[in-house]
Amino acid sequence: MPANPSAAPDRPEIISIAGLSKWFGPFQVLKNVDLTVGAGERIVICGPSGSGKSTLIRCINSLERYEQGTLTVDGIDLGAGGKNVEAVRAEVGMVFQQFNLFPHLTVLENCMLAPMKVRRVGKSKAEETAMKYLTRVRIPDQAGKYPAQLSGGQQQRVAIARALCMTPKIMLFDEPTSALDPEMVKEVLDTMIGLANDGMTMLCVTHEMGFARQVADRVIFMDRGEIVEENAPQAFFDDPQNERTRSFLGQIL
Ligand code: ADP
Ligand code: MG
Repeated sequence: MPANPSAAPDRPEIISIAGLSKWFGPFQVLKNVDLTVGAGERIVICGPSGSGKSTLIRCINSLERYEQGTLTVDGIDLGAGGKNVEAVRAEVGMVFQQFNLFPHLTVLENCMLAPMKVRRVGKSKAEETAMKYLTRVRIPDQAGKYPAQLSGGQQQRVAIARALCMTPKIMLFDEPTSALDPEMVKEVLDTMIGLANDGMTMLCVTHEMGFARQVADRVIFMDRGEIVEENAPQAFFDDPQNERTRSFLGQIL
């Protein structure tokens, strides 16, 4: 393993980011970010609050625009005036810290909505797919309930199932366990580990370092809008090269 593996050479590229810069007004939130992700790679992104982690992954499914650089997802160019937003959203699933389930829909309806509306899948097929993924996240018995009737861990597993119902090629996770009570973290991480083992391409913003060690191909450390350091997990944790990485790891480990 090279000291700073940028892209795994044996995998086709699925995300290519080069020279990406973004501003919120006068504030530059992303500074010349370069990142290449191979199909099936598992990437963990960590770094202090406000370092641009969410903004970076939100750019990858076009929830944010950017001003400079290039960003291509499975051959879809996201710089072309926003016209490819729908195409990229169909390929990229996203799971947020706050679940973002529709409160007035049942678990099953939450999972059926996007396939029916966006993909024009028929109702019975959408239901079949929803039950398949609810079974995969091990809560098929909760299908008829409303989100508020579920625990946080169950709600987050519904959010994962809902994203999978669109059969994405890439899954983005933005601190998926940060809003959970400690006893519910494991059930969500176990679901994510299962996805990783099935070969899903995943970018996970998380500070769950046990998860990073277990499943990540690469760990990326961001600070002040830049990728400061990246490496395979063992080298990243055991021998961080940059002073800012060392200081950050010293605070969280
Ligand atoms: P992280 O996820 O690493 O905590 P974010 O990407 O959420 O960081 O935010 C990076 C910086 O950009 C923060 O300083 C944040 O306040 C700022 N920021 C994020 N979203 C907006 C926005 N919509 N408008 C203005 N500033 C924002
Ligand atoms: Mg964030």
